[in-house]
Amino acid sequence: MRERRSGDGGVSPNLRRALADIRWTPPRLSALIRAMPKVETHLHLDGSLSPRTIKDLALLSGDKTLARKSLAEIERLAVVKSPRASLDRVLSSFQLFYPLLRGPWAVEEAARRVAQRAQGQNVLHFELRFAPALLAADDFPQEDVLKAALRGLRRGAAEFGVSSAVIVCLIRDENLVSDEQNSEMLDLALAYRRRGVVGLDLAGNERARPLSRFKSHYARARKAGLGTTAHAGEAPPGDDLDLALDWGLHRIGHGVMAGKRPGLLERIRERGVTIETNPTSNLRTGAVQSLTEHPAKFWRRAGIPLAISTDDPGLFGIELGGEYEALAGHCRFGAEDLLAVSLQGVDSLFLPERRKRPLRRRWEALARKALASLAD
Ligand SMILES: [Zn+2]
Repeated sequence: MRERRSGDGGVSPNLRRALADIRWTPPRLSALIRAMPKVETHLHLDGSLSPRTIKDLALLSGDKTLARKSLAEIERLAVVKSPRASLDRVLSSFQLFYPLLRGPWAVEEAARRVAQRAQGQNVLHFELRFAPALLAADDFPQEDVLKAALRGLRRGAAEFGVSSAVIVCLIRDENLVSDEQNSEMLDLALAYRRRGVVGLDLAGNERARPLSRFKSHYARARKAGLGTTAHAGEAPPGDDLDLALDWGLHRIGHGVMAGKRPGLLERIRERGVTIETNPTSNLRTGAVQSLTEHPAKFWRRAGIPLAISTDDPGLFGIELGGEYEALAGHCRFGAEDLLAVSLQGVDSLFLPERRKRPLRRRWEALARKALASLAD
């Protein structure tokens, strides 16, 4: 899993030459962002529902109150458009989504629509994460949740030409998911290791169960060859970041607090750990006070690989291209930076090298085409 491509994580000499031939202006940078190939690594199924999908799922689940609302009303209810006081305030919004997803058709359709949305952003491949335990019901066991999502992703791949895989999320909050349910989710992830599940994550409130409680879970996942990541350092104090590195996790979700812990950025860089970077999410949860203050620019300068993602495009009402725009507009990422982090996203995917290689070739060809369309 830790195989890395040769070079410095930067773009190829061919692309660099093409980049140098273009006189970059903000509109051209925006055109590049629209046209360039991307991948997405940090993307929650339950955070991906658009107001339209919420309305459709409400109709299906018999939630008449929600189904009767207009799309604008649902948007006001379900989309976190301005910064909240804390991560908890944002996480509580998810309570609206879980009941809508407790059935096979709902999960399958929601997953299919993630692929549709991805196609619109020129995404070649995405990794979709969720906790089957949060969507399960008495007549809808965890395994059926996972199977429904995999069906939706397969349909999405066939219809929209975007490949994908699943990351299973263990959950920190005891009031949402028990130890037993977390163990069941891990067993499920391991059982589906060659059938669509590629990684293990830990999500939820960092002040609930710490990462240290999940040592055996991560050890088993690693041994089985699953990719490993965890939400860590999304909010203060970020103690789990040190442990994530000690355990050799492949990626870190958010990591905003990394710069506040002495020597940590250096360790992340040395180990080649990729930070799943979600700028708007970090702003809306109050992890950063403004996009200009987002640490992505320091990470990039320090040589840490980044994988740009939305986290929750439905919950925040955003698209992946907008996250690249945020980096260009507020963190001074130029055209080469944007292409380089997109490619680092490809490198960080939880895929075997034999599947990454053709993806990289496709990425290179599409990046070259995008630049050619912008040449003077
Ligand atoms: Zn997340």
